[in-house]
Amino acid sequence: MSLKTFLPGGTSPAGQPVTLGVMGGGQLGRMFVQAAQAMGYTTAVLDPDPASPAGLISHHHIKTPYADEAGLAQLAQRCDAITTEFENVPAPALQTLAAQRTVAPSAACVAVAQDRVKEKAHFVDCAALSGVSPAPHAVITTDASLAAVPADLLPGILKTARMGYDGKGQARVNTREELAAAWDAMDKVPCVLEKMLKLRAECSVIVARGADGATVSFPVQKNTHHDGILALTEVFEGALDPALAQRAQASTVAIANHLHYVGVLCVEYFVVENAQGALDLVVNEMAPRPHNSGHYTQNACDISQFEAQVRALAGLPLPTPRQHSPAIMVNLLGDLWFKPNAVRTQRSERPTSPPWAQVLALPGTNLHLYGKLSARPGRKMGHLNITAPSVAQVRETTANVLTLLGLPALEA
Ligand code: ADP
Ligand code: MG
Repeated sequence: MSLKTFLPGGTSPAGQPVTLGVMGGGQLGRMFVQAAQAMGYTTAVLDPDPASPAGLISHHHIKTPYADEAGLAQLAQRCDAITTEFENVPAPALQTLAAQRTVAPSAACVAVAQDRVKEKAHFVDCAALSGVSPAPHAVITTDASLAAVPADLLPGILKTARMGYDGKGQARVNTREELAAAWDAMDKVPCVLEKMLKLRAECSVIVARGADGATVSFPVQKNTHHDGILALTEVFEGALDPALAQRAQASTVAIANHLHYVGVLCVEYFVVENAQGALDLVVNEMAPRPHNSGHYTQNACDISQFEAQVRALAGLPLPTPRQHSPAIMVNLLGDLWFKPNAVRTQRSERPTSPPWAQVLALPGTNLHLYGKLSARPGRKMGHLNITAPSVAQVRETTANVLTLLGLPALEA
């Protein structure tokens, strides 16, 4: 990719203000737009939903389907450079845009991230460089490949190759019969069967890579999932073994370099025990964009993952981000608008706001809501970033926040 720079507040050759665009108007697009606007950029969003979180706050909102030629032409006409906020944007749409404008990450990189089969193959290639491998797995595309699955992959998790997220498109299977039934239930779409690993922890790494190949890594996040959805991210010294964290960062940089990636990339890892009883890393999956587990950077680092996305796209410098405070991020799912909490003892039938005033009275709490019009169980409504001068304090404040919201306590 060429080393083009789009300075904030400038004017493009066509005489319009320098404009950054994003494919997709979800919460990640919204926070990209907020970071871009804070720096003085004009923004454009393409998302068919008139109430999309990013569309609601962007200077321009093109409300067509992602593959609509007229919509893509409008986005290209408006923008100097374009990124994406979700991996399921059709790769041909990104190619169309890239013929006219700077697009990062590239359609080719997004295509790897949107297909678990390609993604696993890329991880296997990178393992030779990084020493971090994916879970033992088999690709299932035909009845013959189903029959050929090695017995030691069971019990396992069957995952659709495409379109899975937040634990959707997955089935846990113990026997060959369950595996066959689960694949049937998935309409025999291409899948990956992964061996079920005993996880000691989960973590993820965000890196940002410029068009010049310079790559910077954010600190490593420790993640806790509930029901396949991220619940909590903890980032401070002692949250993870430092040697493992360093390996995870090196592996993520290798994965980005090997793809000639430009933009922000998140890679998820499992911490497991190896045959010798030592802690080891397994690479799980990647997202070609900022990630839910990186939201803590908004309040705990001098550059957020969204500002890094803006900088990488605009060709601006990318100094190594510095974390200045221990941080915990709490995901706010729609369930919180219904469940009992410290203020109401009964479940609410209609969605009612959680006790924000009490939460925000605690020092070091920053609320980020995505402007979604209705709360539903399982829907990501926002997140809370909690920071403090010490690990003990950030844990104490978080314990209070969790109690106020009626959420399970932090693990010891
Ligand atoms: P997605 O995030 O796209 O829904 P993941 O592959 O990250 O899919 O799976 C979601 C969660 O399921 C993981 O964060 C982890 O908690 C669990 N999981 C996934 N694969 C495995 C595995 N092979 N062994 C054990 N747990 C797994
Ligand atoms: Mg995941």
